[in-house]
Amino acid sequence: MAQLIDGRSISDKIKNNVKIEVENLKKSGIGVCLAVVLVGNDPASKIYVKNKRIACEKVGIVSKEIVLDEKISESELLSVISNLNTDSKINGILVQLPLPKHLNETKVINSIDPLKDVDAFCPVNVGKIMIGKCDFLPCTPAGVLDLIDSTGVSVCGKNCVVIGRSNIVGKPMAMLLLNRSGTVTVCHSRTKDLKSFTQNADILISAVGISKFVKADMVKPGAIVIDVGINRGENGQICGDVDFEGVKEVAGYITPVPGGVGPMTIAKLMENALKAAKIQFES
Ligand code: NDP
Repeated sequence: MAQLIDGRSISDKIKNNVKIEVENLKKSGIGVCLAVVLVGNDPASKIYVKNKRIACEKVGIVSKEIVLDEKISESELLSVISNLNTDSKINGILVQLPLPKHLNETKVINSIDPLKDVDAFCPVNVGKIMIGKCDFLPCTPAGVLDLIDSTGVSVCGKNCVVIGRSNIVGKPMAMLLLNRSGTVTVCHSRTKDLKSFTQNADILISAVGISKFVKADMVKPGAIVIDVGINRGENGQICGDVDFEGVKEVAGYITPVPGGVGPMTIAKLMENALKAAKIQFES
């Protein structure tokens, strides 16, 4: 039976450390402020923004929410971001995705000052991840690394399989594992005989977006299984990509959904906002 990796308690420890550091900075007269830009009324995005605001409040980071009409033009949005880039009181900028279809997401993300890009999505920060010299680690993959570290198992030399190759999860995840000297395989929708790869994984990370996608017979006995997926199950409940009940009988360690990767993503965002403030203060 797998040991449960408790993302809630690990993320609480990270947030407590951030809180202490934020308080110390405040004593030196330095505040930490995260700007969150929300365009339109997407219900899921509103929930994500609210959760980020609550996390900011808990750790003492000022959260500045900028809510914009969903019909805003691209040039108006770029102008909002340009103002945030030059505002010395703003340390981190996050644009909540997805954006309405008429806005070019890549162009908007690329317009964020790399030193304020706390999601680490802009090309400068993505490039820095490639060469292993990043200011900010992307929040979800960085949170996954912490979850793996919590098991005490070293990534070095392990067979790591990442299912999913998105720019925000799969690709940076693979790069972070490679930077830790894992032997990394990235699988995706065109992968033939997926099971032959996953059955060989000491560390298996699923970021697909399909509930019950990873079944027990795909998992190597004793493997670390990290479930990034956030999906709706048959009864509307939140569930991950992994068939938890079956896989927990085979894996060595497993993350639950909810309570696994999700809370870590927010905790790592708080860490990045703090780091941004420190970098800007020191430069
Ligand atoms: P995307 O839809 O961008 O990527 C999904 C990936 O899964 C793609 O690379 C796709 O392959 C691959 N895939 C789809 N079907 C299959 C299949 N049958 N076999 C193998 N691979 C397949 O999703 P994201 O990366 O943005 O997110 C993935 C999941 O993680 C979602 O459930 C999302 O909600 C969740 N998520 C959770 C976060 C958290 O904090 N916990 C943060 C971000 C995301 P291809 O490229 O070939 O299409």
